Amino acid sequence: MNNHKELPQQVVEEWIKGTAGEPFSLGEARREMDITNLENSAKLRAYISRFRQQGLIKRLGTAKYILIEETLDALDWRSALGANPMPLNWPFELEERAKIFNGDIVLLAGEKSAGKTAFGLEFMKMNMYNSKLPEIDYYTCEMGAAEFGMRLSLHKDVGIDSWRFNGPFPKAIDHSTVINPDHISIIDYLDVREEFYLAGKYIGEIHDKIQNHQGMALVILQKNAGSKWGVGGQRTLDKPKMILNMRKSLLWVYDIKNPVDSKRNLDHLGWAFRLDEETSFANQQQVTVCGICDGVGVKDFKKCRGCGGLGYSFIEDEEYDDVPF
Ligand SMILES: [Zn+2]
Repeated sequence: MNNHKELPQQVVEEWIKGTAGEPFSLGEARREMDITNLENSAKLRAYISRFRQQGLIKRLGTAKYILIEETLDALDWRSALGANPMPLNWPFELEERAKIFNGDIVLLAGEKSAGKTAFGLEFMKMNMYNSKLPEIDYYTCEMGAAEFGMRLSLHKDVGIDSWRFNGPFPKAIDHSTVINPDHISIIDYLDVREEFYLAGKYIGEIHDKIQNHQGMALVILQKNAGSKWGVGGQRTLDKPKMILNMRKSLLWVYDIKNPVDSKRNLDHLGWAFRLDEETSFANQQQVTVCGICDGVGVKDFKKCRGCGGLGYSFIEDEEYDDVPF
């Protein structure tokens, strides 16, 4: 380090990142960066203090500091090798679109009363008899035992004694502390409405818990009406391998990281439906989601002109006998 120059913060930050988990003292930092004048020594202390506040490093008891290392994501070698995805079945036949591997997260962001629980229960019903799949654990943040039982009893195609799952377990946040990483966890829903900025943190922790294990997690988030993403914004979108949006009468794909057919266009792919107590998603019809309002139906606080506020349009060269609602 040239001591006639001011010590840049970037230099110290990069040096600290290079310590890779080895504790260091201020003296060692000065020596290694060849800091010999008082001004730069003071700067070093100021940067160290700032990095502590920012959570880059923490102080150990012995006047030493240590880099707080981020958890590393395992590389997605399974899909790279063309390994078999989990033999899951999904509402809207999403298994024809997305490959979901052991250890993956699927995120469904839905408005209140849009059909989020219907999706969770349908997904459970479609997979609970498959002996090639792990056991299913259902977590609910909102429903009591009576309401949950009532929701199950609406499914006339399954006797009330024929459901196969563990739970429902009451849990609203912080699921990574309780989930079994070798099970299928259905989280209905992650309740971060008061502290929405924590959604990304909780999803990251679930990801860390289940990656490289045999299970997977369907994480359902409640989002505000008219907003594009689940609560929590962009940070919630890093980890999930499939991200779905849902609002009343519309489910659409935001992101599929491992598509079944990479040549098939997933842009603006959605389905209109009518929420039905017994069959969950009645009158499913594939639609083209509006690219102007991204399915929300509202743009700049006004009804979207591209779709007339509907959020989608029907695919023109197909004819349907039945309208979805
Ligand atoms: Zn629109």
